[in-house]
Amino acid sequence: MQATVLYGPHDVRVEDRPEPTIEEPTDAIISLPVTCICGSDLWPYRGISVFPAATPMGHEYCGIVEEVGRGVTSLRRGQFVIGSFFASDNTCPHCHHGYQSSCQHATPVGGAQAPRLRVPLADGTLVATRDLPDADHIPSMLALSDVMGTGWFAADAANVKPGATVVVVGDGAVGLLGVLSAKQMGAERIIAMSRHESRQRLGREFGATDIVTERGDEGVERIKQLTNGVGADSVLECVGTQESMMQAIKSTRPGGYVGYVGVPHGVSLDGHQLFFSHVHLHGGPAPVRRYLSQLIDLVFKGKINPGKVFDLVLPLDRVAEGYRAMDERRAIKTLLRP
Ligand SMILES: [Zn+2]
Repeated sequence: MQATVLYGPHDVRVEDRPEPTIEEPTDAIISLPVTCICGSDLWPYRGISVFPAATPMGHEYCGIVEEVGRGVTSLRRGQFVIGSFFASDNTCPHCHHGYQSSCQHATPVGGAQAPRLRVPLADGTLVATRDLPDADHIPSMLALSDVMGTGWFAADAANVKPGATVVVVGDGAVGLLGVLSAKQMGAERIIAMSRHESRQRLGREFGATDIVTERGDEGVERIKQLTNGVGADSVLECVGTQESMMQAIKSTRPGGYVGYVGVPHGVSLDGHQLFFSHVHLHGGPAPVRRYLSQLIDLVFKGKINPGKVFDLVLPLDRVAEGYRAMDERRAIKTLLRP
């Protein structure tokens, strides 16, 4: 099959790769009607995070079960399923507490920018939809696999409650879906920090009430002005840099919450400053599995349409163009058709 492989910075190719096969009895093989590029794929693409040579790319997936191992009991051929970037058993203590991305048997899933994918721990990882989604719903189902689940976790970790004032730092797909999540959770005021017009527009469509274009301390100052000097109840940090993390912490009122889901790159926090900020911090790799059933339901009911973050659609063999467009921030998120 033709699949995506990263060779080095800015060197991503589609090449012939072996078909995935059942390796463990708990595996499933699924076929992927669509796939996509994640903002976090840009870290290795830009050479900022190190990766082994010739890495198969892609960790967001939904599709049809083609084959299951003899140890898989809850899934059958033909079902439409969604999983997330960590396979999990969904039975260990961490899974029971809702932290499937810290599962005692967590296994990263990779190689999803391809027509077919092997998913380990299929019973624990994959959630089957009741009915087959129609074509219009499939991009939204794909978004649940990572960016929507991650935006939802950011809002949940930031303790977004009805009536809350929320700030979202970051206008990538996750930040925009953090806006959508905060809206669903009943936030009254949602301030999106964004400098890009097309992203601001989608942010407003998803529920942002205010846009702040300033960054860093200027951005914090603007948030303070907008909240009568108080700061926000809940702040979603969806970038992962020192500046964005400090922007998030300083925009939060004493007693407020920061939900941080941007993978940290070079972030270090000062204990003294943290101590006197009185801010709750919670984040990490989103336990997307915890939210899948609920989010699938919201998509089927038409309450959320997270697939709107896909603003570029390409055939898989033009994947390099998709990476370039996201790297240059010309596209929010690229959908690929294998
Ligand atoms: Zn587990």
